[in-house]
Amino acid sequence: MPEQTRDVAIIGGGPAGLTAGLYLCRAKIDTILLEQQLTGGQAVNSPLIENYPGFPEGISGAELVERMKAQVDRFGLEIKTFSKAMKLVLDDQVKVISLEDGEIRARSVIVTSGRSPRKMGIPGEDTYTGRGISYCATCDAPLFKDKVVMVIGGGDAAVEEALHLARFASKVILVHRRDQLRASDYLQERAHSEPKLEFMWNSEVTEITGGDVVKSASVFNNVTSERTEVPVSGIFFYVGNVPNTDFLVDVVELDETGYVVTDNNLESSVPGIFAAGDVRANRFKQVIVAAAEGALASAGAQRFLESVGVRQAYEGGH
Ligand code: NAP
Repeated sequence: MPEQTRDVAIIGGGPAGLTAGLYLCRAKIDTILLEQQLTGGQAVNSPLIENYPGFPEGISGAELVERMKAQVDRFGLEIKTFSKAMKLVLDDQVKVISLEDGEIRARSVIVTSGRSPRKMGIPGEDTYTGRGISYCATCDAPLFKDKVVMVIGGGDAAVEEALHLARFASKVILVHRRDQLRASDYLQERAHSEPKLEFMWNSEVTEITGGDVVKSASVFNNVTSERTEVPVSGIFFYVGNVPNTDFLVDVVELDETGYVVTDNNLESSVPGIFAAGDVRANRFKQVIVAAAEGALASAGAQRFLESVGVRQAYEGGH
């Protein structure tokens, strides 16, 4: 095996990847974290995380991830950013990751590449992305001060972000395809008591139109078949996510929706490749779960290194 082969490569710099990196560097295991563009994953888009223990007043996703990043910096985790699509291939016992400027060889890989917002594929979506259409209320809400905005979706993300937008916009119209939200009860309660929030139930946005920027959304009521043209300045899409696993097709087993299938040790169908956090086929997509899975995957990777004779027996406990 060539000398430059790393012990572990972590793919993705959100809470799962940063936690895996923290554990591995602290255990003095030769580790590199590869992150597309900026570190942080989707968590950085959350305006306020209230269910991560240790922060009684809540903490913004950006600050939480910044603190995780400071912690891995302290233990010397090497982070490399890349911008174009990567490839992962198996070369005998080694996993080879091809990036735009070369390749990284590693004995073990922890996939923490997360998910990306799902696109709806409706007319106007591509044209107006960045010109009124956004997938990140936390980033763009201040641009819509005193304006009317629309949020599409009925899950936790849609409701959480609609509440955040209500701090800036004059009115937030939440468009949901059913007559009941999917979001957690506590978010639903807040949504129903937010005076700036209006609901369009059983409704689907079919087209977005405008000039230079978004001007209106065509909304179809799937119960009455009525079509309404709703004037809005901004539209925020929260219709779920797709896993970032293009580079894993035909490499490891994925479930029918593209998430990585693992065993209880978070090991994928390929020995030595682990998955943690949102990219894994787990039920509970939460920052705390991603962080915990990052720790578990790091333990799995250490045991794998031991099994191939690279490391001392892993006793756990650090
Ligand atoms: P989600 O829970 O999958 O909800 C997606 C929403 O979009 C659903 O309401 C769905 O409608 C709707 N939808 C899907 N496809 C659509 C389409 N083509 N047209 C119109 N509407 C469509 O996604 P999410 O809200 O992004 O949350 C993802 C995960 O992260 C969840 O596990 C969530 O609990 C977690 N999360 C947690 C927090 C928190 O704890 N505070 C915050 C954000 C996210 P239906 O309801 O009809 O299916």
